[in-house]
Amino acid sequence: MITRSDALRLDASDLLASFRDRFVLPDGLVYLDGNSLGALPKTATARVAGAVLQEWGEGLVRSWNDAGWIDLPRRVGDKVARLVGAGHGEVVCADSTSINVFKVLSAAVALRPGRSTILSEEGNFPTDLYMAEGLARLVGDGCRLRLVPKGEVLSALGDDTAVLLLTHVDYRTGERHDLPAVTRAAQAAGALAIWDLAHTAGAMPVELSAAGADFAVGCGYKYLCGGPGAPAFLWVAPRHQEAFAQPLSGWLGHAEPFAFEPGYRPAAGISRFLCGTPPILSMTALDAALDVILEADLALVREKSERLTSFFVEAVEQLCGNAVRLVSPREPSRRGSQVSFSHPDAYAVMRALISRGVVGDFRAPDVLRFGFAPLYVRFTDAWDAAGALAEVLSSHAHERPEFRRREAVT
Ligand SMILES: *Cc1c(COP(=O)(O)O)cnc(C)c1O
Repeated sequence: MITRSDALRLDASDLLASFRDRFVLPDGLVYLDGNSLGALPKTATARVAGAVLQEWGEGLVRSWNDAGWIDLPRRVGDKVARLVGAGHGEVVCADSTSINVFKVLSAAVALRPGRSTILSEEGNFPTDLYMAEGLARLVGDGCRLRLVPKGEVLSALGDDTAVLLLTHVDYRTGERHDLPAVTRAAQAAGALAIWDLAHTAGAMPVELSAAGADFAVGCGYKYLCGGPGAPAFLWVAPRHQEAFAQPLSGWLGHAEPFAFEPGYRPAAGISRFLCGTPPILSMTALDAALDVILEADLALVREKSERLTSFFVEAVEQLCGNAVRLVSPREPSRRGSQVSFSHPDAYAVMRALISRGVVGDFRAPDVLRFGFAPLYVRFTDAWDAAGALAEVLSSHAHERPEFRRREAVT
């Protein structure tokens, strides 16, 4: 049996506890959705205000040079690189994850002429699959998307597999792939490996270069706390950077954007993966957030994440019995920084929880998803969330009609 005193004791000995105060978090709110929209770092407020008032308001167009706006995608990319085990000049921050999937997928497919299959999992995040479908339609005969159930990916690799496109941590179940092993298997079959790190970057260490991976993408607004709609990032292994010019050949990926030549010539290195003008205000918020995240030791972040998620599983199972069923892997090493439970009425249960100040989210068809951003979530939050869930379930609060109305965003 665990109690709230155990949570208090764990919080008291938490080496990352001081990070919580670096974020704006409303009093009394238990926020377990940092895997969907990360909390606001306090320093981001002043940094964005400065970018608006001084850089935009006073510097105006001069700020492209004077405030270094033009290099921001690479500078912020270099910060992300330190979180994902990549080198200097290997990551840029740009566009959305969906667009970046398209860019790296096109590059990868072009690097494997004669092979026509993009292989992925049925349960992969839909936008990744939709973008692959769009690319396959555009390329035509030489390209198709093949989806297999989780667990069958490795055996589905074959002579025709051009690219294996996977999300490292499953958005629904939190199950985590063994990135180095899966990368090796894909490459042994002659394919390239693309990793979506949307639920990885900032929540745990990952070593892209050491694993010899080929391409990666990820979100700026989840564990990286860059704010709603923050730009995403993409990583290209140096050996592939010069091999292909991605098809979204916009002027900021040109070798000399301000030569205004009529023809496209790709920039050297990672810059060719840029397209149009970067969203400076959003990227400034992400830049400020990364400065906070980079202060933390990622090994400690991962260690806390495993303990937090395990504590939550134990608390929920103790307090809720078998009213909900764990859908995340039970071994902490096999999951990301989230825990999911299923319940037949998950949507209404989550709405009832949110009305009590415990924010997680619902994922169709029946998943209650709780994200644990280790920099600002406490063990007492995990305990209190489990208690609120038990209360909702035992009181049948979720059966009230107001919790059944579907909102546009779940
Ligand atoms: C959140 C998420 C995305 C989001 O893509 P956007 O283009 O930023 O909307 C993509 N892939 C995965 C795996 C995600 O979890």
